[in-house]
Amino acid sequence: MPAHQLAEMLRRRQISARELTEAVLARIEAVDGQVQAYITVTADAARRMADEADRRLAAGEGVTPLTGIPVALKDNLCWDGVRTTCASRILHNFVPPYSATVVDWLIQAGAVIVGKTNLDEFAMGSSTENSAFFVTHNPWDLSRVPGGSSGGSAAAVAAGEAVLALGSDTGGSIRQPAAFCGVVGMKPTYGRVSRFGLVAFASSLDQIGPFARDVEDTALLLQAVAGHDPLDSTSVNRPVPDYPAALRQGVKGLRVGVPREYFVQGIDPRVEQAVRGAVARLEKLGATVTEISLPHSEYAIATYYLIAPAEASSNLARYDGVRYGYRAQGAPDVVAMFSRTRAEGFGAEVKRRIMLGTYALSSGYYDAYYLKAQKVRTLFVQDFQQAFQQVDIVVAPTTPTPPFRIGEKADDPLAMYLSDLFTIPANLAALPAMSVLAGFTEEGLPLGVQFIGPHFAEERLLQAAYALEQDLAGEGVMARRPTLPVKAATA
Ligand code: GLN
Repeated sequence: MPAHQLAEMLRRRQISARELTEAVLARIEAVDGQVQAYITVTADAARRMADEADRRLAAGEGVTPLTGIPVALKDNLCWDGVRTTCASRILHNFVPPYSATVVDWLIQAGAVIVGKTNLDEFAMGSSTENSAFFVTHNPWDLSRVPGGSSGGSAAAVAAGEAVLALGSDTGGSIRQPAAFCGVVGMKPTYGRVSRFGLVAFASSLDQIGPFARDVEDTALLLQAVAGHDPLDSTSVNRPVPDYPAALRQGVKGLRVGVPREYFVQGIDPRVEQAVRGAVARLEKLGATVTEISLPHSEYAIATYYLIAPAEASSNLARYDGVRYGYRAQGAPDVVAMFSRTRAEGFGAEVKRRIMLGTYALSSGYYDAYYLKAQKVRTLFVQDFQQAFQQVDIVVAPTTPTPPFRIGEKADDPLAMYLSDLFTIPANLAALPAMSVLAGFTEEGLPLGVQFIGPHFAEERLLQAAYALEQDLAGEGVMARRPTLPVKAATA
């Protein structure tokens, strides 16, 4: 059930927060052996938080829409006293002495945190296969990836192992796994949600955002985490609208732009059909549809894979075995200790990013690569500025294909990078964007559609996504659930 229905039952005392939390913990027990969404399940803390929520609900004080609702956190979000690994060997034993602002705010809202979810190491990847610990499986088809890097959060929500979850999105890491797992995921405008306590990957692109079962829940979770935080210098001091209030405004007169460059070679026809179907529904509901152009789209991957690794190479310099995390033993001197720690502590993809980024920033190559990429980034900003003079939102695919098989792209980094083709532009231009369910393939794999809006137009995205979701719900599409647990195949 979505959080907004559960919250109603909690308020009426038809269920207790403790019962709800026990149900989620039992579900984790029943299916996480197959899905493997969680790195750490915080059952004891969750029970304590649930009891606190019940106390608030009984007293009728400090009750918010999230009071008593089980939430999962991507394991790159710090929670005071709880191991935060980033799915990396180098942080396998790291226990932060402080919480991310979003975690503090969730706790203040009375939410129940049930655990920390799996990700691609340091959020670098699109399949959760880059986790140093284990691979998360897509609940709709266990032989497929859940997407990444927030694959654990997406899979947990899809499999009923959490009601809501937070992830982070640097180049698509909320929207792509949301599409692959048939849930809703939003990357808010850069600056809308504090990143304090999010382990940095690429600081000019990283943004925290919600995963939920439906659009209304997405609005509720966004409401809880959006707002100004003096601890994050990029956090924007601007009033937070009432997101749930925006949902029911409909799409009559909404100008929808469909970018022609997003329907090119490489896009799976089933994805294209689902996206065009979603656009047709919006049109039926009163939106006007225009084809638009985002002329620099073809440079998205090249631009992102210079900027993001450059920033990562700088951010990841702090993992040196001195202050925290893993330290290689037996090195003869300090320089050997640094290099052995990093050689043993980081996985292959993280090393690839550090090398690419260091190269792009190095003297002699900086102008040709990093500076050039920053200039192209400005062109992405301009593409969208121009588009938003003609239309209110852009509707596009979230991913070029339905969820792929585990192992299918694991040995081909470029093929993996291409799965973020349609999500990266919103990060480069700092725009809000979300992915919602658009339908299923014949074999029952979820297909997503992406909505991109102007800066701080989260309300508009929610409004359009809600209208689409209600229309699909009329045909039973929203009622489908993965069939877990699956009996283990016997030899
Ligand atoms: N898949 C992209 C990457 O590997 C995006 C990851 C993300 O958004 N964190 O960098």
